[in-house]
Amino acid sequence: MYNSILVPIDISETELTHQVIPFVQAHAVMNTAKVHFLTVIPSVPYYSSLGLAYSLEMPKMKEIQHAALSKLDELAKQFKLPSEKIQTHVVTGSPKDQILKLADSINADLIIISSHRPDISTYLLGSNAAAVVRHARCPVLVVR
Ligand code: ADP
Repeated sequence: MYNSILVPIDISETELTHQVIPFVQAHAVMNTAKVHFLTVIPSVPYYSSLGLAYSLEMPKMKEIQHAALSKLDELAKQFKLPSEKIQTHVVTGSPKDQILKLADSINADLIIISSHRPDISTYLLGSNAAAVVRHARCPVLVVR
């Protein structure tokens, strides 16, 4: 029985989200677990090359975060879990670092992640999935 499940979602890849739905449903059985959905808005190298910090002060950053949250809320609904059992999170930064950081702070006992984008079939694991598998302190279910 799991208490806290983390599901990182790349909101630009809705196909990957569909792939993980049955696995999340199967592991959230009896609705004992809280399911945390996270999307990370990656840092844009362009900004850093200008010497600017990628932060909330960046123009439109608030709107981008707001749009990402609406999209994530919409995707989370497709999992058909009771609303009190889900929580959505949007942060900025490096996806792998932020996934691992949230896993620690919510005390995740399971992470469910897709292996990679379907069009990039040469890799067994995408870079974020690989880093999560390698560094997470809890079991990781890789869906492919
Ligand atoms: P690829 O390089 O093929 O996209 P990734 O390792 O980046 O492979 O993606 C695999 C999985 O990692 C995604 O399905 C998602 O679960 C997670 N992931 C990737 N990018 C993000 C992101 N920006 N926010 C949240 N999760 C992400």
